[in-house]
Amino acid sequence: MPVHDAALLLLGHGSTLNADSSAPTYQHAEEIRRRGLFAEVHVAFWKEEPNFRQALRQTRRRRVYAVPNFISSGYFTEQVIPRELGLTGAITQVGDQEIIYCDPVGLHPAMTEALLQRAQGVVEKSGETIPAPARTACLFICGHGTSFNDNSTKIIHEQAAEIRRRGLYADCQPVLMEQTPFVKDWRTLTPCPDVIVVPFFISDGLHSFEDIPVLLGLTHNMREKSFQNPHHEIGRRLWYATAIGTDAFIADVILAQVEQAAKSAGEISPAAETSPATIEVELEQFLKCGPLPGKIGQVILRPGFELRHQDDADEGPDALQSLRSLEELRQWIRLDSAGDFRPLRAAPNLQRGWLYRATDWAGLHAALDYLYPAELANWLLWKEGRLPLTPWRETAERQTGRFRIVREMDENALAELVATNCEPGCLKRRLWSPAGQSVKSSGGEIPLLCPEACNFLVGKAREKLKGPETE
Ligand code: SF4
Repeated sequence: MPVHDAALLLLGHGSTLNADSSAPTYQHAEEIRRRGLFAEVHVAFWKEEPNFRQALRQTRRRRVYAVPNFISSGYFTEQVIPRELGLTGAITQVGDQEIIYCDPVGLHPAMTEALLQRAQGVVEKSGETIPAPARTACLFICGHGTSFNDNSTKIIHEQAAEIRRRGLYADCQPVLMEQTPFVKDWRTLTPCPDVIVVPFFISDGLHSFEDIPVLLGLTHNMREKSFQNPHHEIGRRLWYATAIGTDAFIADVILAQVEQAAKSAGEISPAAETSPATIEVELEQFLKCGPLPGKIGQVILRPGFELRHQDDADEGPDALQSLRSLEELRQWIRLDSAGDFRPLRAAPNLQRGWLYRATDWAGLHAALDYLYPAELANWLLWKEGRLPLTPWRETAERQTGRFRIVREMDENALAELVATNCEPGCLKRRLWSPAGQSVKSSGGEIPLLCPEACNFLVGKAREKLKGPETE
């Protein structure tokens, strides 16, 4: 396994509407970070912060392994990610960084093990058993299915064929939500009395929690307490699992994808092993030279790598909830005090009442990236006069599909949009035209900078032109 001086970058889809979509990508990044295999581990998303355009900024390591946490290859892995990161193939030199672009997680042969483990796990957890699955059980692998991309269904068909070949179950079939073979037809697709359905999705969300249970004819969706496995109906039992992408085993699949790509890329050259000053080194210098406490957004930084909400500056540690891991910090900051998802980390609605102590500068960097994604990197680039700025027009032109309509927004409508969303709802200073602002920061403060209109604003632009978005 490559360790040395390399960074790992996990790329997920994310969502501006709920935290479920990005959760598995964060979860696997946390697990891999915990194992200490890479010098740095970062995440980036299509729909959330930090976005793909800012992904590589988060690290100055010379070699970066970029792994798409996607279930299949297709539009995102073949077009969007390469375009946004500036990749031209399996190995791309971007400035002084060497980016190794790995295959998507879902394509690795180890996914077969992940599917089998998930199927076995859901049965074991239920308290009931299937004494002879090779005679009585059918495993369905359930995907979405779309006429736009054959690749997503191809991989499900291949996985089902491989599991059939192993003969562990009486049958194994692919089923789809929107294409044949339809998941709603499961009763006629197999005569087996025991049926297990595993959703072949990266994250849990509307599809796996609600849509598929409805298509299966279950009376409760997975979010309801009354949901239970197995579901019994005359002569049959049905177990329904959560999305495969949430399985802890996926961290190993990600590492396997890196290992495979690293073999083709060869050893890191001695020159590549020597990275320039890392972001944490610069953070250390800034905090050692400036007045303390330091400040970023609504958070203050104190000696001992301590972070807390600025309004809790005078609270004793016993009055605050001590968050012991990045995962706990993530769970705390993802919702506002009303329990609603915070799609915008720089919104001035960070909840109070917590305290987080990192163990070193790298840990502090990681925690600050959770609180304000990629903002340390943006600030350092801005100080060096190297922060790329993207005018609204260019951001709008990049939008495709349902979001293409934002290209039609004129400057007056844009100004109105900024006044109603950015002004009251975000602590960042806009640097992009035509809505740019000046940046003022006092000593000891790391300013939050907005180098391009974010996905949240693009979503609001679409909403303004078309009405509310649903996902
Ligand atoms: S576009 Fe507006 S809402 Fe989005 S990050 Fe920038 S300032 Fe904040």
